[in-house]
Amino acid sequence: MTTATPKIEAANPFENALQQLDRALHYLDVSPGMAEFLRRPHREFTVNFPVRMDNGEIQMFTGYRVQHSIVRGPAKGGIRYHPMVSMDEVRALSMWMTWKCAVMNLPYGGAKGGIIVDPRQLSQGEVERMTRRFAYELIPIIGPDQDIPAPDVNTGAQTMAWIMDTYSMTTGTPSPGVVTGKPVSVGGSLGRSEATGRGVMYTTLRALKHLDIPVKEARVVVQGFGNVGAVAAYLMQEEGATIIGVGDVSGALYDPNGLDARDVLAYARGHSNLIEGYPKAKAITNEELLTLECDVLIPAALENQITAANAGQIKARVIAEGANGPTTPEADDILRQRGIMIIPDILCNAGGVTVSYLEWVQDRQYFFWTEDEINSRLERMMDEGFYAVLKIAQDMEVDMRTAAYILAVRRVVEVAQLRGFYP
Ligand code: GLU
Repeated sequence: MTTATPKIEAANPFENALQQLDRALHYLDVSPGMAEFLRRPHREFTVNFPVRMDNGEIQMFTGYRVQHSIVRGPAKGGIRYHPMVSMDEVRALSMWMTWKCAVMNLPYGGAKGGIIVDPRQLSQGEVERMTRRFAYELIPIIGPDQDIPAPDVNTGAQTMAWIMDTYSMTTGTPSPGVVTGKPVSVGGSLGRSEATGRGVMYTTLRALKHLDIPVKEARVVVQGFGNVGAVAAYLMQEEGATIIGVGDVSGALYDPNGLDARDVLAYARGHSNLIEGYPKAKAITNEELLTLECDVLIPAALENQITAANAGQIKARVIAEGANGPTTPEADDILRQRGIMIIPDILCNAGGVTVSYLEWVQDRQYFFWTEDEINSRLERMMDEGFYAVLKIAQDMEVDMRTAAYILAVRRVVEVAQLRGFYP
C-alpha cells in the first residue's frame, strides 16, 4: 500500500527563485555549467555589528549583502530592515534583482541586503546609528561602480542619505552615486519615491488593455500600503479604477463602492503608518482581502503571500506583483491553470530600480532632469519591458513570468558568453 505524501510547499524564497529559474532554463539552450553559474550568488557578505542604544547598552545586529551577479554591470538592489530577514531571503531577492535589471535592460547586475531588525522598536537615533555602522561595514564591497544599494522594505530616502554620508565621509569623496533613492536635495531623482508604484500602474494598464478590461470598470485590491502599494492604489484610482480593498500589517479595509486611497494614506500617516481604525470602510482580515472578487490584485507586501493554500480562491483576473516574490511556484501553476494573468515582480515592480538607474545617471553627470522627463522615460521603459515579455509569452506559449525569465536569462547569458570567464 502506498501512502500519498502531501507536497510540502517550499516557504524558502531562495528555493522558489531557483525553481522559477529552472522553469525558464527548460526553454533555453544553456549548458549545465552556465546554469550553475546563474544559480549561485557571486558574493555573500554577513556582518555582526554592535550599536549603542539610547539607554547606553550595546545591542548586536546581523546584516547581509548578497551580490548575485555582476555580469551586466555593478550589483544593484535595495536594503531592507525586517525581523524575518535571512540569508536565503536576501539570496532570493538578489537573484530577482539580476533578472529585473536584465528584463529592463539596465546596465546592472543584482544584489540585495538586509538587517534582521524591527525598526519600529528603535528610536530614530538608534536606526541612524545602526544604518551608519552597517554602511561602514559595507564600504569594502559597495561603491558607485561596484554595488549600489537603494530603499526596500522599511528603509527610505533618509536611510539612503545616511549611507551616502557615511560612505562619503569615510572615503573622503562626496559620492551621491553610491546609493539611489536619496532625498532630492542630496542628489536623488524627482519621481523616485513614487517610481515603483508608478511602474506597477503602467504595467497594470497595459495588462488591462491586453485583456480588454476598461480601466474605469476595473476593481482593484491592494495588499501592502507602503511605498509601493499606496502609490499604486492612488495612481490606479487617478486612472479611473475603483480601489475596493487595501490592507497592511494591521488589517484590511473593504468598500465595494471604492475607497479614496489618498485619504487612507493621509489617515495612515497620522496613525504610525497603519490603516487600522480607518473609519470610512469595513474592516476585514488580510485573508479575506486576498480572495475578494476583483479585476486586479496587487500584492505589494512581502514574499509567499499567494500560495497553494489560497491560489484556488483568488478571484482576480490580473495579479500585478508590486512585491518581490509574492507568489510561490505552486501557486503559479494553479493560477495559470485558472487563466489568471500575472505581471511578474521582475517586470511589474521594476519601476523603482529603473528610476534608480536614472538617478545614478544624473548623479554621474551632475545634471538633473525634470519630473516629467523622468516619468516619461519610465513609462517608455516599462512599456518596452512589458511588450517584450508579452511577445515572448505569446510566441513561446508560456506564462508571463517564464517569459520574463527567458528574456532576462538570455540577456545575462549573452553578456557572460561575450565577456568570457576570467582568466
Ligand atoms: N528595492 C527595490 C526593488 O526591489 C529597488 C531597488 C533599486 O532601486 O536598486 O526593486
